[in-house]
Amino acid sequence: VSPATVLPVAVEAPQYTGLLRPLSYTSEQPLAPGTLVHVPLGKRRVPGVVWRGSAEVPENNELRPVAAHLTRLPPLPDDWLALVEFAAAYYQRGIGELALAVLPPELRRLDDAGLARRQARWAAAAKRSARAGAPAVLPPSPPELLPEQSAALARIAQEGAGTTLLHGVTGSGKTEVYLRCVERALAGHSQAQALLLVPEINLTPQLEARVAQRFPQHRVVSLHSRLTPPQRLANWMAAHNGQAQVVLGTRLAVFTPLPGLALIVVDEEHDASYKQQEGARYSARDLAVWRGRQRAVPVLLGSATPSLESWVRAQQGRYALATMSTRAASPAELEAGAASPAPAHAGAASPTSAQAGAASPTPAHAGMPRLRLVDMLALPHPRGQPPVLAPALVAALQERLARGEQSLLLLNRRGYAPVLHCAACGWKSGCPNCSAWRVFHKIDRSLRCHHCGLAQAVPRACLDCGNLDIAPLGRGTEKLSEELQALLPQARVARIDADSTRAAGALDAQLAAVHAGEVDILVGTQMVAKGHDFRRMTLVAAVNPDAGLFSSDFRASERLFALLLQAAGRAGRSAAQASASEMWIQTQHPRHPLYAALERHDYAGHAQTLLAERQAAGLPPFSHLALLRADAKQAEQATAFLQHAAELAALLPEAAPVALYPAVPHPLARVANVERVQMLVESRSRQALQRFLWAWLPALHPLPRQHKGVIRWAVDVDPMAI
Ligand code: ADP
Ligand code: ZN
Ligand code: ZN
Repeated sequence: VSPATVLPVAVEAPQYTGLLRPLSYTSEQPLAPGTLVHVPLGKRRVPGVVWRGSAEVPENNELRPVAAHLTRLPPLPDDWLALVEFAAAYYQRGIGELALAVLPPELRRLDDAGLARRQARWAAAAKRSARAGAPAVLPPSPPELLPEQSAALARIAQEGAGTTLLHGVTGSGKTEVYLRCVERALAGHSQAQALLLVPEINLTPQLEARVAQRFPQHRVVSLHSRLTPPQRLANWMAAHNGQAQVVLGTRLAVFTPLPGLALIVVDEEHDASYKQQEGARYSARDLAVWRGRQRAVPVLLGSATPSLESWVRAQQGRYALATMSTRAASPAELEAGAASPAPAHAGAASPTSAQAGAASPTPAHAGMPRLRLVDMLALPHPRGQPPVLAPALVAALQERLARGEQSLLLLNRRGYAPVLHCAACGWKSGCPNCSAWRVFHKIDRSLRCHHCGLAQAVPRACLDCGNLDIAPLGRGTEKLSEELQALLPQARVARIDADSTRAAGALDAQLAAVHAGEVDILVGTQMVAKGHDFRRMTLVAAVNPDAGLFSSDFRASERLFALLLQAAGRAGRSAAQASASEMWIQTQHPRHPLYAALERHDYAGHAQTLLAERQAAGLPPFSHLALLRADAKQAEQATAFLQHAAELAALLPEAAPVALYPAVPHPLARVANVERVQMLVESRSRQALQRFLWAWLPALHPLPRQHKGVIRWAVDVDPMAI
């Protein structure tokens, strides 16, 4: 075999096989790096990508030939290969595993003939739409920029090919800033492409239509998990071959090959959905920043409640900071806010707030809804229980109803009740397979486990003692809707949560009904708290948000604050209503500092409090974490594996700057009869953590052979929760 025909090929193989690097194959003809191939692996035939760099030729090893390759797909470009290489290294996964996971699934199975048929179909469709001509209605001209938008755009332009954090309160008009940046990027050169990332739930047909309408001369495609596989391939291909100039997508779109990439925007950059939670656990936000640096293009991170990670970088000057503190919808209040004296807090005297006048902390209540805190413990408790909804809140809902305005009740728990309970013997509806309760769903009288999916009919009597009187404990969205309907029979109540939106298209239809004014009161989980521009909504109420105050999850407080501020942002988005809009919080801890910060709409002050806590506890962003998790039939087996791993770590010099914590059960210890145990690895230095993981993890691949019960193990770098 001549060396010229030996190729490195990254093949699809799961992480536990330990196959992290490309393998070597022979080929009759030279194949460019980035070519899609099929190769034999053991007894199977698997997809792979011809990789860059030189192939290792193992001694006395017969190399096998590439089985087939796709000639109709332009090879994936070098910068894409570099991105996948970086992500695989950083998140400790196989290059081939990651490469194939982020390509459109159809590419795995299509051959040249199949791809040719597809391409013919796309070409025919393109011809049809070209014949149909440009849309008859001209797009509305973009609004005149508000002063803060102009200032933000100037700051972003000044930063050039760097990262800018756009901290803009909800309704301040961030989308308009994104669109202007896209416009600017596309005007730069004829091949330019812009990538716009949004959280899954925010990618609605309305947003897509708005972006497409804004760029009638350009092709806009979307990439997200709700597309059919053929649609996803068609859109991906349009991006890859440069035909699409704007790519609007969710986290998976960060891996789109974009030859003309000129700008990356990450909307709601703090959103947890940017972190992939299985397989290669990458952060699309962090990879977007990396990719921007790699390609020397601007990256814009936008949020009303930036992640503490991004906030700290902006404070340190590593990201530029642009601030918009007033709502676009209420220019009158903008002036009132600007004229008001000192902002509510003085804590965040940072260099950045001094350097940009507009970047000082949020003026109090700049067109934001007024906060109404209800002390639930101070209310009369007729049956030993606080009421579901405080009488004052019910009255406020009634007022909205009379005025034809909409309200939103937020409850982060779907189903009817989180658990069924027998008062006679104490039985509760636990899941036999998981360390979790089975949730009561009244609609089909089922008990369903939200973790393993086990669903059974509700028993007529207690399974332990036969008592007929088993009752729901607590409250989910289903029950809240029912109770609300009883309190306000004339109201049109709708519910949006993961249950109501399971069917394809259901979410879009339900949101459209809210926009069309067919709903008076919307009951929903966090799904509806973010992003949506509900024009008639003047009241938002968090029914029971206290759980987030005292959670063991170190990010819970950050997330709760973001959620409530986002939710508040749903109210009073049209100028006429801004002054009458309210955010209600039902709480047993009305004096909690989180709510006080919320009342002042004081992101910066709250961030400073949280950062002080994180620094004291040595948590991110002041340290860097990785979680090693082992899953086994028995917890002891998983623990033994992790202890063995810790012993191996102790032998490594790279372990000096890292701390390994004892193995502990995962917060949800058992799912589908599998026990999950995890071990935290922490270091002050990101590089030191990476060096350690690279030295350590390869040594773990042989371990499962000695720990028979271990089903799988994986590492999560920069985990969202510990
Ligand atoms: P954000 O994303 O910051 O929450 P949006 O981009 O949704 O805010 O903007 C809020 C509202 O303000 C939208 O209805 C938008 O059309 C409007 N808006 C944005 N910019 C302007 C502007 N320059 N002039 C008038 N209205 C604007
Ligand atoms: Zn019982
Ligand atoms: Zn279960």
